Amino acid sequence: MKTAHNIHDVTAGRGGKAFLLTGRDKTALIDTGMAYCAAGLIANIRQQLTDRPLDYILVGHSHYDHIGAIPHLRGAWPAVKVLGAAHAAYVFSRPNALYTIRTLGAQAAAIFRAGELPPYDDALLKIDAVVGEGDKLDLGGLGVTVHATPGHTRCSLSFLAGGDTLFASESTGYISGGTVYPSFITSSAAALASVEKCRKLEPAVIVPPHHGPLGGRARVAFWDDCEAAIRAAVAFILAHARQGRSEEEILIAYERDMRDEGSRREQPLAAFRLNTEAMIKTVLRENGLCRPLA
Ligand SMILES: [Zn+2]
Repeated sequence: MKTAHNIHDVTAGRGGKAFLLTGRDKTALIDTGMAYCAAGLIANIRQQLTDRPLDYILVGHSHYDHIGAIPHLRGAWPAVKVLGAAHAAYVFSRPNALYTIRTLGAQAAAIFRAGELPPYDDALLKIDAVVGEGDKLDLGGLGVTVHATPGHTRCSLSFLAGGDTLFASESTGYISGGTVYPSFITSSAAALASVEKCRKLEPAVIVPPHHGPLGGRARVAFWDDCEAAIRAAVAFILAHARQGRSEEEILIAYERDMRDEGSRREQPLAAFRLNTEAMIKTVLRENGLCRPLA
C-alpha cells in the first residue's frame, strides 16, 4: 500500500519516522524522528519542498523519538508552528521531561553511532498552538483531522490525512516484522478505546508509528492485532500478579516469554524494560492490584 502523492516519507534514520504533507497552500510534518537525524531530515524535507517553507509540525506525542528534531527544524524554518495536545505542552514545560528528552536523544545518537548530538536550546521544544479531538487543518486540497487517542501517553494524537490515510498514534501498538506489539503506558483501557476509535475511521491507508503504510493482510488485520496484543499483555500481567508475583518477577517473566526476535531487533533492552515496567504498574493499578499479593 502506498501513500498519496502529497504524502512523503522523509525519515532520515532509525528510531523514529517523519512524514511530510504537501498541500496546495501549506505544508506539514507529522513527527520528526530523533534529534540525531535532524540534518538528514531537513535535507529530505528541502528536497521535497524546494523553496516552499515548512508551515506546521504535528506532534503525535511528546516522546524524544517523535519530537527530537523540533529545535533544529525551527532553526531551518523559524516561522514553523508546532501543533500538539495540551498535555504535550505541559510535558514540554517540565525541566525533568526536557532533561529526559535530551538524555535519551544523546544515548540514541551514541547507539546509532551518529556522534555528538548537535546543541540546541530547550526553550525551542514547545507547542505553539494546542490541538485536540476533531480539530482540522486545511493545507489546500489536503485536510488533516486530529483524533485524540491516549493510552501510550496522555498526549497521543492520531492524524487522518486526505480523509483516508491514518497516522495512528502509538497507543494502538507498533508493528515490526509483521508482529504487532502493545505500546500502552498510561492506560490499557484508553489504548483499547483508541484502537476502536481508529478502526471506526475505516482508513484505506494505515501508517502505524515507527512504520510505513501497511499493505495486504497486515492492514486488514491491524486493528484486531492491536487489540489482541493489548489484551494478551494485560492477561499475562494479571495472571502472574494473581499468582503472587512481584512487579520485578512479572517483568522477568514478561521479558522471557513475550520479548521475541522482532522486539529485540526494534527496541533496545533498556527502553523495552522501561516501557514494560510502566505497563505492569498500569495494569496493576487499573485492576486494584497495586501491591504484590504475596
Ligand atoms: Zn512513545
